[in-house]
Amino acid sequence: MNREMASHIVGYPRMGPKRELKFALESFWDKKSTAEDLQKVAADLRASIWKQMSVAGIKYIPSNTFSYYDQVLDTTAMLGAVPERYGYTGGEIGHDIYFSMARGNATLPAMEMTKWFDTNYHFIVPELGPNTKFSYGSHKAVSEYKEAKALGIDTVPVLVGPVTYLLLSKPAKGVEKTFSTLSLLQNVLPVYKEVIAELKEAGASWIQFDEPMLVMDLNAHQLEAFTHAYTELESSFTGLNVLIETYFADVPAEAYKTITALNDISGFGFDLVRGTKTLDLIKSEFPANKYLFAGVVDGRNIWANDLAASVSTLESLEAVVGKDKLVVSTSCSLLHTAVDLVNETKLDDEIKSWLAFAAQKIVEVNGLAKALVGHMDEAYFSANAAAQDSRKSSPRVTNEEVQKAAAALKGSDHRRATNVSARLDAQQKKLNLPVLPTTTIGSFPQTIELRRVRREYKANKIFGEEYVKAIKEEISKVVKLQEELDIDVLVHGEPERNDMVEYFGEQLSGFAFSANGWVQSYGSRCVKPPIIYGDVSRPNPMTVFWSIVAQSMTARPMKGMLTGPVTILNWSFVRNDQPRYETCYQIALAIKKEVEDLEAAGIQVIQIDEAALREGLPLRKSEQDFYLDWAVHSFRITNCGVQDTTQIHTHMCYSNFNDIIKSIIDMDADVITIENSRSDEKLLSVFREGIKYGAGIGPGVYDIHSPRIPSMEEIADRVRKMLAVLESHILWVNPDCGLKTRKYTEVKPALTNMVAAAKLLRTEL
Ligand code: GLN
Ligand code: ZN
Repeated sequence: MNREMASHIVGYPRMGPKRELKFALESFWDKKSTAEDLQKVAADLRASIWKQMSVAGIKYIPSNTFSYYDQVLDTTAMLGAVPERYGYTGGEIGHDIYFSMARGNATLPAMEMTKWFDTNYHFIVPELGPNTKFSYGSHKAVSEYKEAKALGIDTVPVLVGPVTYLLLSKPAKGVEKTFSTLSLLQNVLPVYKEVIAELKEAGASWIQFDEPMLVMDLNAHQLEAFTHAYTELESSFTGLNVLIETYFADVPAEAYKTITALNDISGFGFDLVRGTKTLDLIKSEFPANKYLFAGVVDGRNIWANDLAASVSTLESLEAVVGKDKLVVSTSCSLLHTAVDLVNETKLDDEIKSWLAFAAQKIVEVNGLAKALVGHMDEAYFSANAAAQDSRKSSPRVTNEEVQKAAAALKGSDHRRATNVSARLDAQQKKLNLPVLPTTTIGSFPQTIELRRVRREYKANKIFGEEYVKAIKEEISKVVKLQEELDIDVLVHGEPERNDMVEYFGEQLSGFAFSANGWVQSYGSRCVKPPIIYGDVSRPNPMTVFWSIVAQSMTARPMKGMLTGPVTILNWSFVRNDQPRYETCYQIALAIKKEVEDLEAAGIQVIQIDEAALREGLPLRKSEQDFYLDWAVHSFRITNCGVQDTTQIHTHMCYSNFNDIIKSIIDMDADVITIENSRSDEKLLSVFREGIKYGAGIGPGVYDIHSPRIPSMEEIADRVRKMLAVLESHILWVNPDCGLKTRKYTEVKPALTNMVAAAKLLRTEL
């Protein structure tokens, strides 16, 4: 009973329980506060997080998981790997250069940003070339370690590992095709050695290297890089414990063998929530006298841990690795979950009892560690067991009718009866559109006034009639504008929607909404995903009223506008008590009802956005087909029953989908509008290679993410390039995405030029 309990947290959210860091950053960027103000907020947040973990009893508390913007950018700064154009000349990198790389400055754009594995967190992509010089450019890891130490807390400094860093980097401009970033390994290791030496000198006894790339499909050469890197660093590791941390999926057998064979590593961290196969690997072989950091508490979700189940997993691992070598941990950094349930006043107690945000997950990790050394907190464990039971049996979770309807889907493919070319013909007879029809993606600019109206309606400050009147006026404005611009297929502008998922979630059963459940998306930006806790159903029509209103204002076709099931799923916290695809099928059935009601109300064109379909693609190739299969099937369920004359559109905002083009075709929409203008024509190259495509397609003709107004000529040129690879009768002309974030002063001239370009090209055909 005297064994020391061992608990560890991989990383923690930085934003603060009320997004304190966001507001401090934005005020600093707006020059409304000083660097000192910002640093003070940051230091207070770090101190409170460390203290919280220390009070909870966590043994291995992480440091250097704070960031002003992004941990990969912090690593770029640590390595002094600043792209030349930002004018770095050596020494400690300050806010100026750091934020210029992150956000751009008056003269330079920001560095590229991309998604961190399959999360919704985005990192700043390092740009490396043969001439990149590395030097110790940021002492942040050491100063954070010392800062915690001064508070009496000994932490585990966390570094992004050298191999993951290089594999996530992109070759600099000019050497894109020829340069392998991994070839720089030998150049970055000396800086890592300096950092390690300094951390050791400051008193660190453990260092954590995050190497999540280990869960990907790597080739032998890439795996060798791990062996090479950590063997080379060995001499620096004397007197130090080193943890290699992995997360987000299971570690493939080859990678597992590679890292567990490393001599001077003291411990390995694995995600045992998403990596159930790793569990089998550990059980079949784990190196003697090494620590296992067992990630049993989910860092990607908001559900309370099933403590009893975790204890039994942990006990089975104890038998393999030895009692004093097992450390209870989170599956990944808690960065990807919400911060603290304490601030949730809107959620009722029953739902709250099912949840655990980051602050609660710390307590879970520690509670498990205590239980393992014989100090189980009985009251805590029995409350947890009761909550698990109530979640299983609550009538709010289970809806027999929905379960039955979802089960009845099995065995059918849900395809429309007629093929797409015949459908397009039938639709054209009714719609009578010109060639190269013009349309937009859905939303129009959202003014401050409009946001105020929605907010006041939600807060019960204005009432039904007044709200309906305000929204109607907005729709009418948007309809008139589109008619003036002479756009062919109109939208109502989505003024009643704050967010394309939230709007539907709020009207579907089985969804709950937090007040402060924010998760960092990039920089200071956060999202607040809905929580899907129960079987999903649609008690009432969600969009029909507004669609009818909008259609009544014009003789032109008005698109009904829905968010698709896969996107709703991928942008929510999803229940973990049934497979994701089951939840997705349930949402699909709810959206199907909405499609039927829209059709019955006389709406002839219905757009079902699947903006996030590509995003949900699993990291490992072996799992991708299965996902694409059920995701695409879910989409088809929503609209397989409509008449041939009803035109189904879908929209995607991801340009890099050459790898999923077959699935896109398999969605069998009549028309797809997709982001294209930022992708260097990657998309068109697919068609150049001869993919057979018969449905309507509208590759975005200009980038709506930028305030820049594209000229008519520029748009026309773009469409001409499309016409070279796509037949004119299937091509649509539209922007990249919704116009919500733009101003009317940008939207009007841009759409004017877009329509003019379409008209010009019609004369050239
Ligand atoms: N219909 C949505 C809009 O226009 C689509 C947004 C998106 O694809 N992200 O705003
Ligand atoms: Zn989009």
